[in-house]
Amino acid sequence: MNRKPIFAANWKMNKGPSETEIFLKSFLPKIHGQDFPCEIVIAPPFVSLPKISEILRDASAGSDGQPVRIGAQDCSCHDAGAYTGEVSVFMLRELLVQYAIVGHSERRTIQGESDTLIHAKLRKAREAMLKPVFCIGETLAQRESGELERVLSTQVAEGLRGLDPKDVLETVIAYEPVWAIGTGVTASSAQAQEAHALVRSLVAGLHGADAASRVRILYGGSVKPDNAAELMACPDIDGALVGGASLEPQSFFEIIRRGCGRP
Ligand code: PEP
Repeated sequence: MNRKPIFAANWKMNKGPSETEIFLKSFLPKIHGQDFPCEIVIAPPFVSLPKISEILRDASAGSDGQPVRIGAQDCSCHDAGAYTGEVSVFMLRELLVQYAIVGHSERRTIQGESDTLIHAKLRKAREAMLKPVFCIGETLAQRESGELERVLSTQVAEGLRGLDPKDVLETVIAYEPVWAIGTGVTASSAQAQEAHALVRSLVAGLHGADAASRVRILYGGSVKPDNAAELMACPDIDGALVGGASLEPQSFFEIIRRGCGRP
């Protein structure tokens, strides 16, 4: 099954508008003309979305497509109203956002987001035709106590519960073992492949073999230029969600280049 890989940068709480501009001035010329067979997504903080959409609109003027797609790091599960600090999916659409990360482990842990809330956000993102990047993953304690399958199975079942087949296919799953996020510890390619195959089988159980073979599953957790090629060579890994190593233009570019198998 031909699944187009995605390399997505999650900048977390880094890079306001001016640093976003500096990054893009360096990064866009690197990817220009490379015609990588993948999608490149950048998810800056909310306040930098107007800047990135303005720069990308200008960069794509007169060409046949935007070189980079825009992601948001989160979205509200509500439409509008008295939700201080929240940003709606419709507001994101106005800024040309196409992807929205939901359920990142930092939000699950620090903001206490539940599977139920994450499911509501995922559904709301689809209402606005955004592609959710739905994050799942186990902690080290859960892995070590043999709970990997139970944890992933609950997260996948709760997140994708009752979705239409089309919405499942427009969702991108990001398997991110919590113990590998921002720690410098990467899952081995064998561990990552095993978890991705498990996630794909869980999707098959819920939404059928066709959806499972077409849905894209990204790996996230200390992806770097040095490990990108090996991880991306795994049959069930369809790209990467990259935190720390996406903050520097050359390093994000190298992850994409090597992840696409370019010499
Ligand atoms: C992430 O935050 O989604 C992530 C994978 O971070 P890092 O690459 O820094 O581990």
